[in-house]
Amino acid sequence: MINEVLNTKVSENCDVLVCGGGFAGISAALAAARQGKKTILLEKEFILGGLGTAGLVTMYLPLCDGMGRQVSFGIAEELLKLSISMGAEAQYPENWLDSEDKAFRTEKNKRFEVRYNPSLFAILAEQLLLKENVKILYGTYAVAVDKTADKINAVITESKSGRQAIKAASVVDATGDCDIAFFTGAPTDTFKQGNILAAWYYFLESSGYDLAALGCADIPDDQKNGENGVETLINRRFTGLDAEEISQMVQLSHNAVIEDIKKRRDRGSDLVPTCIATIPQIRMTRKLVGEYVLHDTEEHKYFEDSVGMVSDWRKRGPVYEVPFRTLYSGKIKNLITAGRCTSVTDSMWDIMRVIPCCAVTGQAAGTAAAMTDDFTKLDVKKLQCELEENGVVLHENQL
Ligand SMILES: Cc1cc2nc3c(=O)[nH]c(=O)nc-3n(C[C@H](O)[C@H](O)[C@H](O)COP(=O)(O)OP(=O)(O)OC[C@H]3O[C@@H](n4cnc5c(N)ncnc54)[C@H](O)[C@@H]3O)c2cc1C
Repeated sequence: MINEVLNTKVSENCDVLVCGGGFAGISAALAAARQGKKTILLEKEFILGGLGTAGLVTMYLPLCDGMGRQVSFGIAEELLKLSISMGAEAQYPENWLDSEDKAFRTEKNKRFEVRYNPSLFAILAEQLLLKENVKILYGTYAVAVDKTADKINAVITESKSGRQAIKAASVVDATGDCDIAFFTGAPTDTFKQGNILAAWYYFLESSGYDLAALGCADIPDDQKNGENGVETLINRRFTGLDAEEISQMVQLSHNAVIEDIKKRRDRGSDLVPTCIATIPQIRMTRKLVGEYVLHDTEEHKYFEDSVGMVSDWRKRGPVYEVPFRTLYSGKIKNLITAGRCTSVTDSMWDIMRVIPCCAVTGQAAGTAAAMTDDFTKLDVKKLQCELEENGVVLHENQL
């Protein structure tokens, strides 16, 4: 054991500090900055988008319920449109980009989803955030917090500049792994079942450019009918919360890519890989245990404190209102979560972790963080008004 004595310099002071620059963090930072607040977004990598860019998970799953109704709006829709504003990777109905033409809402045979290019999205998102005056700090890892009993005073970071502290009135945990909440000692939970190995990569062959999605889908224990539906590359699962385990997972994922290339070449393909993931492709790791834990049986349920709606990407029909209480625990009053670490049951986690849901919770968290440094005291009606003014539809009975 080494005991370090640290004198950490305060490098920044802001109203809203967003930790993690995936889809949730991008949405939160946009929402907070648009409220006129001094907003900093820190990201440990040198690219925005998280799993949705560096992780090569480039399918923007549906904003609709698959029954002809769009359910996720606001920044979730804005980012979908941004993601394909310089060209999509697959076909989509042209009327989706025309805000006047809502014909897709009645197209029951199609879902409002797209495939986008990760490099284009990462740069376009960066430009959008800069336009909104968000300060982006790349290569900056949140490693600890300085706190009182129930509030974060500063988030401690490590970067090329060394160890520093960023003071903030409120903090959005958009790390995907609930790192900030964990550092504070707020209640969190982990994904006991563990994640299957994934190895998504881009390749080029004479017939074109494509994405190979190895380890495509997973199903939580409590939703399985027997063992069907899980395509596993190897017989091992991963927590995503242990450095050595994650390193092994990444190496196994690289191995799966090589084996897949060999297999395809044996079948006559001339493919070359053009891009492999630069962050671990892991779905569910750690989440907040918030004031409310949303369950997958709560479809079509009215929540007084809803901050937006999401659908189920796996099946048509279900619509979930997202209660504000799933975003904070109240143990740390100026900390709110967004994205794949919000407060849900394991079976709901598989629904809430995907890109549109991360954008919905990101917008809500960023807007709330701009309004208060104590989420337990926030007037939810005022938050809902702000969200509605910015395009969000809160309740299913408003569709
Ligand atoms: C194999 C796989 C397939 C998937 N398929 C799809 C799909 O087809 N469509 C879909 O919509 N979703 C899919 N998902 C889920 C989806 O991509 C992610 O859950 C979603 O993008 C998560 O967004 P997020 O912003 O919450 O987290 P992340 O994308 O994980 O972003 C978190 C960001 O925070 C940064 N960060 C983490 N810790 C720290 C720290 N301590 N300090 C500073 N920065 C930090 C990370 O570098 C990252 O950029 C898939 C996921 C996986 C793994």
